[in-house]
Amino acid sequence: MDFDLSPELAALQESVRRLAQDKVKPRAREIDSTGEYPTDIYDAFRRADLLGLCLPVELGGSGAGILGLTIAVEEVAKYSSSAALMLLLTRLPTGPILIAGNDDQRQRYLPGIARGELRAGFGLSEPQAGSDVAGMRTKAVPDTGAVGGWVLSGTKCWMSGVRQADWYTVFAKTGDPSSRAHDSITAFIVERGWDGVSVGRTDHKMGVRGVDTGELLLDNVHVPAENVIGEVGGFRLAMLGLNAMRPIVAARGIGLAEGALMYATEYVKGREAFGKTIADFQGIQWEIAKVAVDIEAARLLTYRSAWLADQGKFTKEYVPFLSMAKYYATELAVRASGLAVQLLGAAGYMEDHPTELWYRDARQLTIVEGTSQVQLGLIARGVLGHDLWWD
Ligand SMILES: Cc1cc2nc3c(=O)[nH]c(=O)nc-3n(C[C@H](O)[C@H](O)[C@H](O)COP(=O)(O)OP(=O)(O)OC[C@H]3O[C@@H](n4cnc5c(N)ncnc54)[C@H](O)[C@@H]3O)c2cc1C
Repeated sequence: MDFDLSPELAALQESVRRLAQDKVKPRAREIDSTGEYPTDIYDAFRRADLLGLCLPVELGGSGAGILGLTIAVEEVAKYSSSAALMLLLTRLPTGPILIAGNDDQRQRYLPGIARGELRAGFGLSEPQAGSDVAGMRTKAVPDTGAVGGWVLSGTKCWMSGVRQADWYTVFAKTGDPSSRAHDSITAFIVERGWDGVSVGRTDHKMGVRGVDTGELLLDNVHVPAENVIGEVGGFRLAMLGLNAMRPIVAARGIGLAEGALMYATEYVKGREAFGKTIADFQGIQWEIAKVAVDIEAARLLTYRSAWLADQGKFTKEYVPFLSMAKYYATELAVRASGLAVQLLGAAGYMEDHPTELWYRDARQLTIVEGTSQVQLGLIARGVLGHDLWWD
């Protein structure tokens, strides 16, 4: 067992750390207060070749894998959850194509992501169907005309990066719309420029501002048969894609927790009360220590889950390990950012410090890509089914 990063991954960590400190940190507050998409940060990621981290070399990526992207996301999330989300979005919508797409789909849609010429969004959630994806109503019916293919209609919601995306991975019911069977759902690639595709309302959010979330409206959109990802009825693909994403979302949690704890630690070393610094109080030290333990535990869970995912181990039997990383790291982000606000007292509640921003941003992480409750359900199912067992 080797706990060291390879020289390549250590160099990646070092270079992204510098980029995050130089370019992301100074912009984090402004991104939040204006809510404007930070094109300068996207350009900086492109110049540093970070947009193709998890894409294979033959598709123009750098082949650093899920572990490489996880490490990069952790560094960026120390300063801005929104900027870290921009990196994450290079994998969420591309995942199903990487897992089950054909060669033509890969060549058409993925090199542009790595080059920073195309962006993509992931359309699973609907207003009435978040955790309960089988409740989706977006439907795809066969196009009976000469050209064939499918006609998609429906509304996707809360989609990250919806406004900037050039194409979308969209899930729709190809079987009976009232069916809850997973084989009634299929994944499609839908281009932004096609007739009937439009962006609806965008959301006014508590945090993670700058990268819009909003609605994708599909009004009788013709989708050619060659844009079906994998098989018709291959909904399992959505779950495989999300399983492989767990370490990357978890990295947003550990990065945020690290940023918050480091900031609060420096503050308490300088703040005086009762004739000493507040860092001198044992009650404060223990709170710092507990979060430090949790950060290291979360990193171990997260790096292991990234290592698993890179070996293609994101099928059912590995789900508990992947879900644990997401659950633990994102709950930690909420706890660590809450502690940071508390350690700064009134100052931590004000916009003069980044603590209140981390606190708002962290709340997204326990909801998105499978809530904490959904992850606990998956872990429990693994234990009950002996996928996670200790003898
Ligand atoms: C900022 C942001 C960005 C997002 N980006 C995207 C995106 O890019 N693409 C996309 O498709 N979606 C996106 N989402 C949507 C996200 O994936 C969903 O919000 C999430 O899956 C939860 O669904 P829901 O909000 O409908 O909550 P619900 O499913 O309505 O759940 C509400 C509450 O009930 C709990 N609950 C639900 N079912 C169970 C159960 N079986 N047992 C116990 N508790 C349960 C949940 O844990 C939660 O606490 C985004 C959401 C946010 C906030």
